[in-house]
Amino acid sequence: MKNIRKYNLPIFIPHLGCPNDCAFCNQKKITGKDSDMTPQKAEEMIAKYLETTEENAKIEIAFFGGSFTGLDLSLQEEFLKVANKFLCKVDGIRLSTRPDYISEEILDLLKKYGVTEIELGAQSSDDDVLRVNRRGHTFDDTVKASKMIKEKGFSLGLQMMIGMYGSDREKDIKTAKDIIALNPDSTRIYPTLVLSGTALEKMDYEPYPLEKAAEIASVIIELFREKGVKILRIGLHESEDLKNGSVIKGPYHPAFGEIAEGYIWRRKIEKMIAQGDFNGEIPCGKSEVSKIIGHKKANKKYFYDKYKIEIKPIPGEAE
Ligand code: SF4
Repeated sequence: MKNIRKYNLPIFIPHLGCPNDCAFCNQKKITGKDSDMTPQKAEEMIAKYLETTEENAKIEIAFFGGSFTGLDLSLQEEFLKVANKFLCKVDGIRLSTRPDYISEEILDLLKKYGVTEIELGAQSSDDDVLRVNRRGHTFDDTVKASKMIKEKGFSLGLQMMIGMYGSDREKDIKTAKDIIALNPDSTRIYPTLVLSGTALEKMDYEPYPLEKAAEIASVIIELFREKGVKILRIGLHESEDLKNGSVIKGPYHPAFGEIAEGYIWRRKIEKMIAQGDFNGEIPCGKSEVSKIIGHKKANKKYFYDKYKIEIKPIPGEAE
């Protein structure tokens, strides 16, 4: 059967709607856009995207980048009207926002115009971590907003960060567990990076080294998978701005997710070895081969150095 391709039609609203200044955020750098979005521009962009997308693809209009529900209600409504015009041609409308920018009134407006999924930047479940990163909300805001969103029948996404200023491995893993307890449909996991022009750049903060961030991400990925929470993204997109040096320091890597997957396999293989009678051969799906071997053959080298075992993935026909 032919796979149905999924597309987001991203409408970035950089920093529009967000009076906040979170320590790690340089929204314009993240989205790679400098200009402010308008409903008119959004309409032109959506119409243009739809000319080029494949027939039968699953398409969602996605308002990302700022805090959509922090926009003036009238401007939110203008954007929503634009998206709603295209509802017969797309499969849904999604948006991202802050947990403290959710209310009954806002959710009713989003429902009226056909929004299907709301993603909240939860980031951490530790109130001290939220405070020192100047988030301006508590985890209780995330809990309340998540409940409201689910009760109104939206799909719920909860984004989290690892290695935030003031956080550690334990708090990161606890955040994942606290988020899972809110029963989200999806998540995105971002390692904290120091971006130029952010408050974090001037703070006494050392981001996680790449391998530590990837190892913690690997534990969190497994927790989400066990509970059936869809992982939409691990790590930031490789936007032009990220390539052009806006990351001052931190565990940024284009293959961050792949490195984390390597750690998941490392733990699985350790278990196989501990159970005994392991000759290095691992029957697997084709897409698992590179994860088993590890990024730049890291696992192959690790198991050879530690146990003198040659890891040999044996890909089968089926995934
Ligand atoms: S709420 Fe979101 S957009 Fe606003 S400053 Fe914080 S991270 Fe950036």
